[in-house]
Amino acid sequence: MTDDCIFCKIGRREIEGDIVDHDDIVFVLRDINPQAPVHLLVVPYEHLGSLTEIDEGNAGLMGRMVLMANRAARLEGVAKSGYRLTINCGKEGAQSVGHLHMHVLGGRQLSGQLG
Ligand code: 5GP
Ligand code: ZN
Repeated sequence: MTDDCIFCKIGRREIEGDIVDHDDIVFVLRDINPQAPVHLLVVPYEHLGSLTEIDEGNAGLMGRMVLMANRAARLEGVAKSGYRLTINCGKEGAQSVGHLHMHVLGGRQLSGQLG
């Protein structure tokens, strides 16, 4: 948890966020600047700066994030049509918020391009 982190603040309900689902480990937030009809962010309540902070001790968190992403895809009605899970990491990975999160994108035909 950090005081100046936007996702920590949303997780603590200190600032507004369109949280569509949560469990005790992660919450699912509608992206403020959606790139597709369905664009959600799966965010752990715990502050981890990026994917590089995942180690043996918290590797299970990644499984939980995928489970919640799959649940979100079902709830949003894109499980059958298809969707994409993306984690941007670091500067050249185009990460803009320094709190680990996974994008869930769907609801339109995504391109095959990776970057
Ligand atoms: P990144 O570029 O770090 O992978 O993704 C950060 C995402 O967070 C972006 O898609 C951006 O639109 C979203 N975002 C940034 N600030 C906020 C916010 O205050 N609320 C919500 N819901 N999404 C945000
Ligand atoms: Zn944070």
